[in-house]
Amino acid sequence: MLSNGRVFPDYESAELGIATQLAIKSISKATGATQKEIGKKFTSLGDLGLVVEHFASDKKQATLGSEHLTVEKVFKVIQEIAKQTGKGSQERKLSLISSLITSATPLEAKYLIRTLLQQLRVGIAEGVIRDSIAKAFGVSPQSVERAWNMKSDFSEIALVAKKHGEDGLKKVKLEIGKSVQVLLAEKSPDLKTALDSFDNPAVEWKMDGMRCQIHKQGNKVLIFTRRLENVTHQFPDLVKLVQKYVKSEECIIEGETIAIDKKTHRPLPFQVLSQRIQRKHEIGRMVNEIPIQINLFDVIYVNGKQLFGEPLKYRRKILERIIKPSDEFRIIGQLVTKDLKKAEKFYKEALKNNQEGVMVKNLDAIYIPGRNVAGGWLKVKPTMENLDLAIVGATWGTGKRSGWLTSFVLAVRDPDTNRFLECGMMSTGIKEKKENDTDVTYESMTKMLKPFIEKTEGGIVRIKPKIVIEVAYEEIQKSQNYSSGFGLRFPRFVRIRNEKSERESETMERIQKMYDMQKKV
Ligand code: AMP
Repeated sequence: MLSNGRVFPDYESAELGIATQLAIKSISKATGATQKEIGKKFTSLGDLGLVVEHFASDKKQATLGSEHLTVEKVFKVIQEIAKQTGKGSQERKLSLISSLITSATPLEAKYLIRTLLQQLRVGIAEGVIRDSIAKAFGVSPQSVERAWNMKSDFSEIALVAKKHGEDGLKKVKLEIGKSVQVLLAEKSPDLKTALDSFDNPAVEWKMDGMRCQIHKQGNKVLIFTRRLENVTHQFPDLVKLVQKYVKSEECIIEGETIAIDKKTHRPLPFQVLSQRIQRKHEIGRMVNEIPIQINLFDVIYVNGKQLFGEPLKYRRKILERIIKPSDEFRIIGQLVTKDLKKAEKFYKEALKNNQEGVMVKNLDAIYIPGRNVAGGWLKVKPTMENLDLAIVGATWGTGKRSGWLTSFVLAVRDPDTNRFLECGMMSTGIKEKKENDTDVTYESMTKMLKPFIEKTEGGIVRIKPKIVIEVAYEEIQKSQNYSSGFGLRFPRFVRIRNEKSERESETMERIQKMYDMQKKV
């Protein structure tokens, strides 16, 4: 773990809590240099590792009786430092750190300080550690990897490899409280390809939130992110929901947590939720200000049984059995279909609800944790850069939308002729009613565009290209239906570009370039 630049496995939320000032004091105590001297050197070198190396080379303090450092000893002392809390903890930390520096050679001191400040710059890639363990103990890298996927702590895996070899590694099981590497998704170029990839696909919304792996044992609940950071402290509301709505004694379940608007109860983008993830203080206030909702999509362990080897359709059944769903604690909706039309409708709904797209999952696939594996999940989302387009037309709405302009005709500029050429029709993303401050409604669009109406024919109007909007989409297709020869698939309103004049909207050249680019993706 130390070689990885870390002091604790990812799943432990323990922190060393060593501030620069404390490190400076410790260096002073160990080397005899004054804090002022150290501070000055730090300003010029910008790295306390280099600073301690410098001062340790000409130690003023006698280091009589200091012993040689071993990795084991360093590790022990570091764990000891982390345990110090409360009154007098700073002094105790100071003397532990300075005792380490005193026993270290200048070079060792450099890496010690960087490790303590969690600034070690030689973080070794996980693959290298895996291969080193394999080589050192004569086991296969695959079995080290498999074991590590179950328990993401190399120090423990190395010990198993040393004591019990290959067989021991094969027997490594997940343990509640120790995070498991998660199953990841692959990208699909489009929805059709994704649906065609599986005999038995299910489509789910790809929610714009935080992946949570939740461990429950009795009343004890732990929450990990996708990168296996422990965020239990930041989400006491989620802990309560688990305690209330999970019926099994023990389980590991996964889902996506999203932020919810307090007033409208609508999903909010990830940026809002991220304020909660980062928050260490005043958690209660944040819980109140930014309520959450979780959408559960998998279960990998229940009451002593690992479920990795079971197909998704079975895992989902178990999930439905152990969860009592509520508004905030949901099981994610699934559309089981191979029908492109139905799936497209579902995809559109996800985008309309401000979600990222959809996940197409193989209902027959087992759960394979870890990276670089085809796990049976394909994500489909509009990944192309948004386009700034001019509005050149619209249709008058009917029924409850009468009096409003609804579908909007989008266009790109041809710089050679200065004409605007059509490239799509859009209505997704415009709201019926204003729910958030940032919402743009049909009514406000109509007000804005009305002065520029040139001609009305039936329910269709031609509009002078004056208003530029940012549009997201899934794909650019060649199309006979539009004068530019291109059509946007699933265009979605993002925002009005007030600051842009029509002359700054996208050009034909650019849309051609984007079209060519997407073929390479
Ligand atoms: P990506 O980060 O683009 O590779 O997509 C994978 C991530 O999508 C997962 O790690 C989850 O955090 C998130 N996600 C959102 N909705 C779902 C879903 N229905 N099933 C699985 N993952 C989801």
